Amino acid sequence: MKFIDPHIHVTSRTTDDYEAMAAAGVAAIIEPAFWLGQPRTNVGSFQDYFSSLVGFEKFRAAQFGIRHYCTIGLNSKEANNEALAEQVMEIMPLFLAKENVVAVGEIGFDDMTALEEKYLRLQLEMAKEVNLPVLIHTPHRNKKQGTYRSMDIIEEHEIPPHLVVIDHNNEETCEEVLRRGYWAAFTIYPKTKMGNERMVEVVKKYGPERIIVDSSADWGVSDPLAVPKTGNLMLERGVPQEHVELTCYKNALAAYSQSGQFEESDWLDPEPIDQRTLFEGNSVLRGGQAPRVDDKQEDDRIIQ
Ligand SMILES: [Zn+2]
Repeated sequence: MKFIDPHIHVTSRTTDDYEAMAAAGVAAIIEPAFWLGQPRTNVGSFQDYFSSLVGFEKFRAAQFGIRHYCTIGLNSKEANNEALAEQVMEIMPLFLAKENVVAVGEIGFDDMTALEEKYLRLQLEMAKEVNLPVLIHTPHRNKKQGTYRSMDIIEEHEIPPHLVVIDHNNEETCEEVLRRGYWAAFTIYPKTKMGNERMVEVVKKYGPERIIVDSSADWGVSDPLAVPKTGNLMLERGVPQEHVELTCYKNALAAYSQSGQFEESDWLDPEPIDQRTLFEGNSVLRGGQAPRVDDKQEDDRIIQ
């Protein structure tokens, strides 16, 4: 079975994670732009981070057989630095136009401040201009209030709900998010918050329509295999395979393919892995390791 993890911060993860994800059936991933654990102090840091999301990380994932996409946005925490936020807003359109960018995100509320709301609204307008879907991060504190407020604001900006993924849902927010017509994504955190046992119950209760499972794995304690593990647990607990395919693959594909940048054929018919390939002179290999070179159909490709 193939899986999509539509929310994972692989920049913070290791090559072991990539290998394990590929072995577990993860074929494609989406890496949302977010904060890095400490605040950035100048716009150049955002510029280089966005560049790595559309450049090096896509290359690195491909070296392990995984197709990498990203979303570009100013996260809610750093929206609170207004002078910096203004400069980030200026560079965003350049990156939103890059191929492999499948949404504006992740954007939304952290502490529900006035500045967070300001930059949420500005980025919603930007998404409309560039005609991309939106990925909404909902706050971990005041979850219900923050989620409802985000949807109210999206509706004020007249963005249709089928273009918006509301992420980090739980049992308390799910029903209203689905009722209003949005994609409802769930992050499976190890041990805390939404565990995968709880996710199985959510799918049993609400069915698979518009529900998306993701890992949001990052630099913290998190699990890059959360999507395949949850999918397999659903099967064990008697959830029909068709529902597992929808929640762990097809719904994410449907939501983000609205960008025009997210196509199943990209990973169903991939370029063979060739770890001799370089990115700006860099390889993923170290100290004389033997490169993995998969069989090719045609032998006429040029190796750098
Ligand atoms: Zn995230």
